[in-house]
Amino acid sequence: MSDCIFCKIINGDIPSTKVFENEHVLAFLDISQVTKGHTLIIPKIHKENVYELTPDIAKNIFEVVPEIARALKKAFNPIGLNTINNNGEAAGQSVFHYHLHLIPRYGEGDGFG
Ligand code: 5GP
Ligand code: ZN
Repeated sequence: MSDCIFCKIINGDIPSTKVFENEHVLAFLDISQVTKGHTLIIPKIHKENVYELTPDIAKNIFEVVPEIARALKKAFNPIGLNTINNNGEAAGQSVFHYHLHLIPRYGEGDGFG
């Protein structure tokens, strides 16, 4: 979608710090990290939210979560990790291209939750 920030990141029109990429998905650091290593995983096809995902797209996203989680653990040595997805403004969604947040946790005072 032409006015979607995340589609622009996929197309390379907006720069991002890539964490992982394959044919179907892209993972990159959040521009405003709530904790060190805060990463977003997105499908390369524009889907607004979880309601629009097909089983294949959901599989493409979730099958790379363990590998990315392990990479974040290795890189940042967190003691926990949240995986979070907001759908709809009422749930806190601000970018309307589906994304799964991976938020490494470092204990009390890490800035999140
Ligand atoms: P939401 O609030 O929709 O669940 O999460 C959207 C996330 O996208 C936010 O955490 C926000 O910081 C991040 N974000 C918004 N614009 C950009 C951008 O241009 N680049 C990157 N890397 N992250 C972005
Ligand atoms: Zn998009």
